Amino acid sequence: MEVDENFFSSVDEDGAMLGGPAGRERRRMAAAAWLAPAAAAGLRVARNFANLVLDVIYPPSCLCCGAATASHGALCSACWGRINFIERPFCDRLGTPFAYDLGISGLLSPEAMAHPPAYARARAVARFEDGPVRELVHRLKYHDRMELAEPLGAWMARAGGELLAEADLLVPIPLHRRRLMWRQFNQAQALAVAVGRASGRKVDPFLLRRVKRTPPQIGLSRTQRAENVQGAFAVPNEAKPFVEGRAIVLIDDVLTSGATINAAARTLLRAGAARVDVLVFARVVTGA
Ligand SMILES: [Zn+2]
Repeated sequence: MEVDENFFSSVDEDGAMLGGPAGRERRRMAAAAWLAPAAAAGLRVARNFANLVLDVIYPPSCLCCGAATASHGALCSACWGRINFIERPFCDRLGTPFAYDLGISGLLSPEAMAHPPAYARARAVARFEDGPVRELVHRLKYHDRMELAEPLGAWMARAGGELLAEADLLVPIPLHRRRLMWRQFNQAQALAVAVGRASGRKVDPFLLRRVKRTPPQIGLSRTQRAENVQGAFAVPNEAKPFVEGRAIVLIDDVLTSGATINAAARTLLRAGAARVDVLVFARVVTGA
């Protein structure tokens, strides 16, 4: 299948997502960085290593549907064309797209004015909806496709450029210890590492801890969702000096109602963070 030329020129100027020597080298470095901390999970390491070997042996294919592509770490033109990228004009606070361009920057949506979040700004690459975006998120989260984190993180670094330029630290949304044991992999952390690599920003996964397991938010009202995640996060005492006065960007894969990320942002702000922004790969957009 042919690959849209614009895809390469617009998404990747430095070869980060391409299969060229630079891209391949970066993938190898990414693999090395990931294999070390995962050493405890022997089976997982073996599986990831096998994936890497397969990548080298087999020709490049679309990250989403598996169709042939010109290079590794890319999407085919069909999948690319089905992604709803979030572009300006959007709400300066929530990052949700506006239907019309009024030509005024810094506009806030009615939602942001009615229910201002704890975080300062949120940005996302694309809308979370059926199709390639949902598929990519799902594959990263449940199918151990860690190699996806690298290209998705590069997109996020681009979408969150203005946030990252002012950031001291990137903090992934943590999983609860027991859920992490079950899954053995936190997709938010994988994305944070990739965003950090693409933007040159430091990642610290130890500043925020998930201290309460929260039941799914589905079907809950706004108030119930906020109550559901209350007290879910904590900044350990020993981490407080590293939070105080810092501009932090919280990283996650998907922003849905925003209640969880808001609780995390509030926890960091209470611990003395100067500013908390949010960067995700995809966000749910309703009523826009
Ligand atoms: Zn495809």
